[in-house]
Amino acid sequence: MINEHMMDLGSRRSTIRELFEYGNSRAAIVGRENVFDFSIGNPNVPAPEAVRQAIYAEAAGDPVALHGYTSAQGAADVRGALADSLNKRFGTDYTGDSLYLTAGAAAALSCAFKAIVCEGDEIIVFAPYFPEYKMFIESGAGAKCVIVPPSIADFQIDFGALEQRLNEHTKAVVVNSPNNPSGAVYSEQTIKRLADMLRGKEKEYGHPIYLISDEPYREIVYDGVQVPFVPHFYDDTIICYSYSKSLSLPGERIGYVLVPPAAADSRELYAAVCGAGRALGYVCAPSMFQRVAARCADQTSDIAVYQTNRDLLFNGLTSMGYHCVKPDGAFYLFPQTLEADDRAFSERAKKYDLLVVPGADFGAPGHMRISYCVKTETIERALPLFERLAKEYR
Ligand code: PLP
Repeated sequence: MINEHMMDLGSRRSTIRELFEYGNSRAAIVGRENVFDFSIGNPNVPAPEAVRQAIYAEAAGDPVALHGYTSAQGAADVRGALADSLNKRFGTDYTGDSLYLTAGAAAALSCAFKAIVCEGDEIIVFAPYFPEYKMFIESGAGAKCVIVPPSIADFQIDFGALEQRLNEHTKAVVVNSPNNPSGAVYSEQTIKRLADMLRGKEKEYGHPIYLISDEPYREIVYDGVQVPFVPHFYDDTIICYSYSKSLSLPGERIGYVLVPPAAADSRELYAAVCGAGRALGYVCAPSMFQRVAARCADQTSDIAVYQTNRDLLFNGLTSMGYHCVKPDGAFYLFPQTLEADDRAFSERAKKYDLLVVPGADFGAPGHMRISYCVKTETIERALPLFERLAKEYR
C-alpha cells in the first residue's frame, strides 16, 4: 500500500505546470517566440555579477569544506553574516542563533508550519495566496488551512473577514508582501492594524498567534515603496525568506527561517524549527550557496527590467479596459478577467498563445495572474494580442 493522498498530489499537475507544458508543446508548432508564456514566476533577470564572483571565490577554496555538510541550522559564520546584514538594514540586533538556513522559502515555510502545528490547529492565509501554502499546511503539517477572501479593491486585508475566522484554534496567520500573485505591498497601516488585532486575540485566547511573514519578494518593489519590517510591529513573527527572487537563484534552493528573540517561546520555537527540518529530512541547506548568500546578502538583481515590464503591461492593459490594482512589488499583475469564469478566460487566451493563470488557483476567481518576469519584447508583442482578446468581449 502507498499513501493515496501523496500519490494524488504527485499525479495532479498544478495549472501553472500544465500551462508551462502546454507552452512547450505549442512552441514546437508555432516557434518559442510566438508563445507568450506568462505562467511561471522564474526570474528572467540574471543573478548579480557579485554572485558569479562569490561562486568563483568559493570554488577556489577547499572543496572538502565547500561541499561538505554544515551544521543542520547552517554554517555559524554564514548565519552570523546574514544576521549582520539584517541588523544593518533594519536596525535589529539579531545573531546567527536566530537563523535557520533552508532550501528556499518552500522549505522555510514547511519547517515553520511543522514546528508550530499541534493537533486541531488552524492556520489562516489571505487570498489571493501562493497555492503551495495549502499543500504545506494541510498535507505537510496536518493543520487546517483557513482562507480569508480577497479584498478586491486594493488587495490589502479584509479585517472583518479575518476577525470572523480567528478563533482559539488559530495558531498562525500567514502574510506575503510583496504578494504573489497580486503584487500588493501591505502598508504600514495594514500591518499595524493586523498586529493590533492579533495581540488582542492572543490575550483573549491566552496563547500566542504567530505571524508568519513569507518574504521572497521583499526587495522587489517599485517607485520607492517601503515594505514594513514585520518584527518591528509584532513580536510573535516568524520570517521565511528566500534568495530565489532577490538574487535570481530559484534553482539553487537557499533561504532561511528567522525566529526573532522577541517571539513567544523563541528558544523552543527555534528548536522546533530545527526539529521540523530534521523530521523533513533537510539535513542542511546547500552548503556552497549558504556561502554565496553570505557574500551577497546586501545585493539584489537589477529590478529595473521588472519595473519597465510592470509599467508597460499595466498601462497597456488598463488602457484596453482591463481592470487591475497597480502592483507595488513582486513581478506579477493580477487583473480581472473579462468574464467571470477565469478558467474559461484562460482557455480563450490560449487561442492567441497567451498563457495566463486563472485566479481561482490563488483563491481569487475572476482574475488572472500574469508573470511579467519575461523579456520586455515579449510584452510588447503580446499587448496587441491582449487587445484582440479584449475585443472579443466588447
Ligand atoms: N512563497 C511565495 C509567495 C512564492 O511566490 C514562492 C515561489 O514562487 C515561494 C514561497 C517559494 O520560494 P522558493 O523558491 O524560495 O522555495
